[in-house]
Amino acid sequence: MMHRLFAEQLRCATDAAGQVDLVKLGELVSAAYEASDRDRQRRTDVRGHTHDEVEQDLLRTREFLDTIVENIPIAVFAKCAKDSRYILLNRAGEDYYGVPREQMLGRTPEEIFPAHVASMVNEQDRRVVASGMPMVLEEHLLEASVKGHDRVVNSRKMLITDGAGEPQYLVGVIEDVTERVNTQQRISHLAHHDLLTDLPNRSAFNAALDERLERAQEVSTSFAVLSLDLDRFKDVNDVFGHPVGDMMLRAAAERLVAEADGAFVARIGGDEFMILMADDVRRDDVLSLAERLVEVIGRELEVDDYLSHVGLSIGIAVYPDDGVDAATLVANADSALYRAKREGRGKVCFFETTMDRELRDRRLLQHDLREALEQNQFQVYFQPQARMDGEIIGFEALMRWNHPVRGFVPPDQFIPLAEENGLIVEIGEWVLREACREAASWPHPLQVAVNLSPVQFQAGDLERSIHQILLETGLAPTRLEVEITEGVLIGDFSRALNLLRRLKALGIRIAMDDFGTGYSSLSYLQSFPFDKIKIDRSFILNLGATPQSTEIVRAVLGLAHALHIPVVAEGVETEAQRAFLEAEACDEMQGYLIGRPEPIEHYSGLIGINVERRRYA
Ligand code: C2E
Ligand code: CA
Ligand code: CA
Repeated sequence: MMHRLFAEQLRCATDAAGQVDLVKLGELVSAAYEASDRDRQRRTDVRGHTHDEVEQDLLRTREFLDTIVENIPIAVFAKCAKDSRYILLNRAGEDYYGVPREQMLGRTPEEIFPAHVASMVNEQDRRVVASGMPMVLEEHLLEASVKGHDRVVNSRKMLITDGAGEPQYLVGVIEDVTERVNTQQRISHLAHHDLLTDLPNRSAFNAALDERLERAQEVSTSFAVLSLDLDRFKDVNDVFGHPVGDMMLRAAAERLVAEADGAFVARIGGDEFMILMADDVRRDDVLSLAERLVEVIGRELEVDDYLSHVGLSIGIAVYPDDGVDAATLVANADSALYRAKREGRGKVCFFETTMDRELRDRRLLQHDLREALEQNQFQVYFQPQARMDGEIIGFEALMRWNHPVRGFVPPDQFIPLAEENGLIVEIGEWVLREACREAASWPHPLQVAVNLSPVQFQAGDLERSIHQILLETGLAPTRLEVEITEGVLIGDFSRALNLLRRLKALGIRIAMDDFGTGYSSLSYLQSFPFDKIKIDRSFILNLGATPQSTEIVRAVLGLAHALHIPVVAEGVETEAQRAFLEAEACDEMQGYLIGRPEPIEHYSGLIGINVERRRYA
């Protein structure tokens, strides 16, 4: 019945216009049909049929066309070009407008639509009629005007003229693509969002970061990348199960978004999140935001009667300081996060280069050094020194720092720090006192060697303090040996030389340490009558391995003999090294072969304590 009504209308229209226009209309409709639904293979059939049959039976053509127009899932209408009255509307059209065709046909837009819609429609019609050009709108949004909800449509409206070129009909096709667009949007939303929290996912984060980098390079701004990880989240999962874990994640995500000041928050996976902060924020602001996030996540989370504490750790990398490409920035934010986790949970760390980190570490260590003396964290170890036949002649005092957190810190690490801030003067005096007091208590009057830092020669009154320590401890000056490196003589040479002379005048022996590693050990040998030369252990280590070392050791020994200065070989670890040194007439040795640096109790026998006991037992 509808068909007939529609065919009637169509014929009506064509009666006035002549038969040709019906075909034209059909062609236009099918062309529009083609354009808006290219996928449909039916297209060629339609055309083929239409052309074939037009010659044979125009009526059949019309009916055929009627059926097609009526049934295609695209709204088709035709109206009079002069007064915009609707003269054709197919089923999809009724559906589209939500108005039965009886109420539309023969009426103008004003009579059908609300005023603002009608005026828009009329305006479009007027333009198409005036220009003779089709109006094509792709994926254009129709606000809830006609059917109560917003829709997205593809539409085209075109003018059909009569034989004389006068405007006759307006034919429109409207395809409602709301569903398709919605589906696409949903798919694209799904592709870029995390299902659980609905936050942007990793791929969306990567895209946003790339975009941000591009912009930052153009306008040279800076921005921060935050890498976040929940603390103790695994426990929540383990204790309450995954469904509760999921709810916690959602709650945490909500808090992050609420507190992030509009920054881009993404969930990267598991309990990891990333945040891209706005351009040009200062480090202080980044830090305070990060700390706020840690604070809000640290508050108790209540989900479904489950109360739980999760925490948050954050690592931060800043463009361009900490990286100019996405991979580096993310890796550095992650490495800062790793450090934050290691420093205890709920921490915020900025990325630091190795240099920054070492510097910070040095400062921390230097800070701790100030308390080390008062807190009794220092200890003196003693390493035996022997003649080549193995007879022990004394010990070198070597300092140890037993750090409350780090354990033993090697002197190579903390002595330079103590030299830097002058603490070495106080520390050096302490070692000297300890070593002298210790040695003074030994039944066997062995010698004790103490290392002096160049800084002790420059600052403080070394001569007085040594003098005082000797008096205080009662150690005979002849049992004390001080080891200096050439660093002592660099700088104020004559002052150092004077001091050395005065020490020597007290009866103390002076040894030149680390011989061979400096620049001018030889020339210093001439300027001061050293009592001993200690060949650096690097040469001993390489004895037999490199011919140069062997030659150097030989040369040093030859020179020292010529100057009548006894030589101590440091770092003797093997019998082969000892045998070589003995053959070369080295005088003394020190090294693991004889004994390692140890607390003096380890060497009670050597200093005569056990012997004494036995004697009096
Ligand atoms: P140094 O004066 O050259 O001390 C000898 C270093 O060689 C010691 O390292 C000792 O443990 C190590 N050593 C001894 N025999 C062997 C061996 O056979 N093999 C190997 N591989 N190593 C051996 P330590 O105790 O780590 O001291 C390092 C440096 O720290 C010392 O080098 C010295 O320059 C400085 N130092 C240590 N205690 C003091 C101190 O009380 N005052 C000052 N100013 N410097 C000190
Ligand atoms: Ca030494
Ligand atoms: Ca040495």
